Amino acid sequence: MHFKTDPPAVKRGPYGRPCGRCSLCGRTLLRGEQGWYLNGRSACADCFPAFARAELADCEIVFGTEEEA
Ligand SMILES: [Zn+2]
Repeated sequence: MHFKTDPPAVKRGPYGRPCGRCSLCGRTLLRGEQGWYLNGRSACADCFPAFARAELADCEIVFGTEEEA
């Protein structure tokens, strides 16, 4: 008699299934996990500050220096 068993590394359930990969750190993004996706790139929560900074780089200014140019 044969029993169908899953490998120990594979976890079942609504949370935990790999759904992608963070474009910045390469970490596996899991189902149910919060993250950000923009312009074909994904970011995990840990990488969000760097991700947002890169995506909004065109909007970056240094306040107070416009008149000194
Ligand atoms: Zn990341």
